[in-house]
Amino acid sequence: MDLRIRGKRALVCASSKGLGRGCAEALAEAGVDLVMNARGAEALEATAAGIRAKSGVDVVAVAGDITTEAGRAAVLAHGPFDILVTNAGGPPPGMWSDWSREDFIKALDANMLTPIALMQAVLPGMMAQGWGRVVNITSVSVKAPVSVLGLSNSARTGLTGFVAGTARQVAGKGVTINNLLPGIHATDRAVALDQGVMKARGISMEEAFAERAATIPAGRYGTPEEFGAACAFLCSQHAGFIVGQNILLDGGATNTTF
Ligand code: NAP
Repeated sequence: MDLRIRGKRALVCASSKGLGRGCAEALAEAGVDLVMNARGAEALEATAAGIRAKSGVDVVAVAGDITTEAGRAAVLAHGPFDILVTNAGGPPPGMWSDWSREDFIKALDANMLTPIALMQAVLPGMMAQGWGRVVNITSVSVKAPVSVLGLSNSARTGLTGFVAGTARQVAGKGVTINNLLPGIHATDRAVALDQGVMKARGISMEEAFAERAATIPAGRYGTPEEFGAACAFLCSQHAGFIVGQNILLDGGATNTTF
């Protein structure tokens, strides 16, 4: 399917690896020029070079921490953007009793206030031109809490509330905002979580992986490519009537009717 977004320009945050990278690759395949970001310059440059070579689109790589004002200013300087994909690393796991105010502020900054600041920066331009697409990478944790991820549950639910109202305020100007909610995907973060289980329980990596895969009706982890394809569709011309939705990509792991 032609997504009909060839020649558009996208900012894809936190995209040297994992789900962000999957989104960047799928958008590039659809002919979208990219501004990519991550903190580590080396991996970012390598990913950007691979995408340039494969898709022939224009790719600008901007190294920096997207959760800081300076990091955001550095990427926004390469606008204007037709498409925004927000993403950042997730907060660490722990117990409800572990976290201080500082820990909450950090999680809110990364997973709620950063995507909100980015939307506030790009929405006026999108609305003025009468077309725009925003996709926020959030988490299954907004639909069904992951008990050890209280910081993520809290911050991402706050972002979800903001999007719910804002998406309806900008839809009339041809701008859509939606959230993609990843369940377990085969990325570095998933491997890190499996390594934690492996160490804590004294089991092998294969056993940890098989145990988690068995909790997913699809019987496997999702891939960054599948995730990216869903993101690119939400950014496409065809998705103009999908507004303010929270789309779960979890292989059926969340046992809900809706
Ligand atoms: P990942 O494989 O660890 O990749 C994270 C990417 O984001 C890397 O490119 C990393 O590069 C970049 N990054 C992290 N923090 C950043 C920051 N502050 N500023 C700029 N770039 C940053 O992670 P992932 O699995 O793709 O996860 C992406 C998001 O989805 C996370 O918020 C995660 O919590 C959420 N999620 C993932 C899963 C899953 O199963 N994978 C499930 C639910 C939710 P640098 O380290 O070089 O900055």
